[in-house]
Amino acid sequence: MKPSDDELGFLSCQEIVDYCLDFLSGALPDKERQLFSSHLRNCSECMRFFETYRKTPEISRKALALRMPDRVRVAVRDFLRERYEPSAASNDSSTRR
Ligand SMILES: [Zn+2]
Repeated sequence: MKPSDDELGFLSCQEIVDYCLDFLSGALPDKERQLFSSHLRNCSECMRFFETYRKTPEISRKALALRMPDRVRVAVRDFLRERYEPSAASNDSSTRR
């Protein structure tokens, strides 16, 4: 007998990756949810990926909240200031006749 079709739930590993967001947001229809779950049960790689995926948004959100962007903002501002306020000397010498 050939292996049961629902062993990997008809879904490829790539489809599992694509469905992760829908599954977590509840947008995935019941049938696909079941296929998704049965694939995870039979595929440790996708299970690991899904677990990581599920945790990632929370972790990065916390990390972003902890890391105040002040330093980044200052760095960007300094960068822009250098860009848009070129030193008068070099600007002057290049345009002087
Ligand atoms: Zn898989």
